[in-house]
Amino acid sequence: MVPRIFKVTGILCIAFVLAVGSLNAQWLEAPAESRSYQQGGTLYEPLMEFVYELESRTELMNVQKVTETLMGRDVVLCILSNPPIFSPADIDKTGKPVVLLVQNVHGSEVAGKDASMELMRDLVFGDLRPLLDKVVVLNVPTINPDGAEVRRRTNEQGFDMNRDYIKLESQEIYSLITKIINIWHPDIHLDSHHGGAVPYTLTFQTNMNPAGDKELMRFGNEEILSRVRAALRAEDYDGFWYSGGRRGADGVATWTPTSVEPRKQHVYSTLANMIGFLYETPGNSYRVINNGTEVVEIPREERYKHQVRGQYIGQRELVKFAAERGDDLKRVIGEAKMRAIELGNNDSDNDQIPIEYERVSKFEEDFWLRKEGGEPGEYELVRGEVHTLFVPTRTTTRPWGYHMPPQLAEVIPVLMDHEITVKQLTEPAEVEVEVYYAQDITHDEYFQGHYLTRVTAVKDTQTVQFPAGSFFVPTGQQKSNFLCYLLEPETNDNLVTWEYLNDFLSIRAPRGGEPREMGELVRVVGARGVRDTTLLVGVRTGVRDTTFFIQARRIAEVTQERPQRPSGQLIPIYRLMKKTNLKGVLVQSPNEYDKNRYIK
Ligand SMILES: [Zn+2]
Repeated sequence: MVPRIFKVTGILCIAFVLAVGSLNAQWLEAPAESRSYQQGGTLYEPLMEFVYELESRTELMNVQKVTETLMGRDVVLCILSNPPIFSPADIDKTGKPVVLLVQNVHGSEVAGKDASMELMRDLVFGDLRPLLDKVVVLNVPTINPDGAEVRRRTNEQGFDMNRDYIKLESQEIYSLITKIINIWHPDIHLDSHHGGAVPYTLTFQTNMNPAGDKELMRFGNEEILSRVRAALRAEDYDGFWYSGGRRGADGVATWTPTSVEPRKQHVYSTLANMIGFLYETPGNSYRVINNGTEVVEIPREERYKHQVRGQYIGQRELVKFAAERGDDLKRVIGEAKMRAIELGNNDSDNDQIPIEYERVSKFEEDFWLRKEGGEPGEYELVRGEVHTLFVPTRTTTRPWGYHMPPQLAEVIPVLMDHEITVKQLTEPAEVEVEVYYAQDITHDEYFQGHYLTRVTAVKDTQTVQFPAGSFFVPTGQQKSNFLCYLLEPETNDNLVTWEYLNDFLSIRAPRGGEPREMGELVRVVGARGVRDTTLLVGVRTGVRDTTFFIQARRIAEVTQERPQRPSGQLIPIYRLMKKTNLKGVLVQSPNEYDKNRYIK
């Protein structure tokens, strides 16, 4: 724990003093600067000492505790604005754009957090200060302090937290979503990492999953990242797409991105109507100078300095962009939200949402690659294909909404954590819906405590009776793109993927074992207990006697009694295609108490 009242420990070196107006502000050396960038990433205590010292010297920055890690370290949010603000309520309706910077999610990837210390200092004391008149900057200096302390990728629970954006099982990402993103609704959301290809100083990517809003993606790619690259070149560096290039057996050079599942931050962000960016800092053993025309070596002892500088330039440009083009930025975000609402609410436009996609070459461009057969350090500029476009290969019509039976109460808190609006029927409804039958269920890949589940499904149209207490998720809401991805069972990142529907889909034992018997399913569900949320929802709707596992069994029985239906197992997420009058009320989060479930 770092005491709120800072005591000078000597770790911090106050290099020189600047009087700024009447604030009696003092210039502070950031932690990495004070060590001349010789010891790599700053560890938790000196980092937080700097944060609290900076906060104590300026009124333009406030620090809020967001959560506490398993090892007892605070994860904090720094709020920077002029005039100072404490909450989103302080930004009026015509308010400033909000830029959220999140550092260090992979504990061993550190240049971004050190860069952000210098950036915050320059925003409150330096030449960047005027930007705070026009933009709110939110910075999480480290979202993974436990991992960072031992230079480990994961948090203390072993989660790769940049794969946790669907299931929110780490308290850090859960808190980031529910206590920062759902509260502040940032326009830009950056995650900083170490990766990418030398000789570039910074590599970057914004969302490319075709399920995202096209204009958001175009804006991030074309308007913002082009500026970031120009800013890097202006300081005699260069930047390029994440992740890297290679020559194929045919000699053709291609540059490829990372995969685009929404479990990753920059993809999630864009599906959730922010412009998400991934910044990756390569090794910086070389750099590109002279406006992209020449590569020179960087001495080992200077590499971290350049890594930090690359992140600084990239993060500063996001803040500058938001300050200078805040109206455009907010308009683009606002229109994306309105488009999502309109597309979902319109039940006759037949608009298509992607279920599967593939990566294609977007354009040819020059980039630096290691010279073929050359010495280490020899680079050549080659013309190659840059694969930064993904196009749908299979789509389905966006439904007007999704019905779910009361037994799916277990997943409602997950939806609500993602700020998805859910209704609950107060009277039964008989409606025609599209139903999925899973014909093939596999979960061969084990990842982060889950057997990632994939289904191949066929659709059928049925008239189904939904009892009072059933759930309905309208797609005419701003998170439409994200919620469709989450509820369509055949995407590569949905509720089925992360085993939320295992109690309804007959579970094959891992590695090709026999399917589990229903008795075993009941035992598994029983052992897990009826979750609090199920009980709470049950109490609210008067279906208290309906226990979870008995309902699971009933669903299975009903399915078996219908030989005329497609073979396979019914997936209890039903697509309602046409506008229908339904009697229901919006669900208030049944687990409000749960928001602090990770804080003891
Ligand atoms: Zn990383």
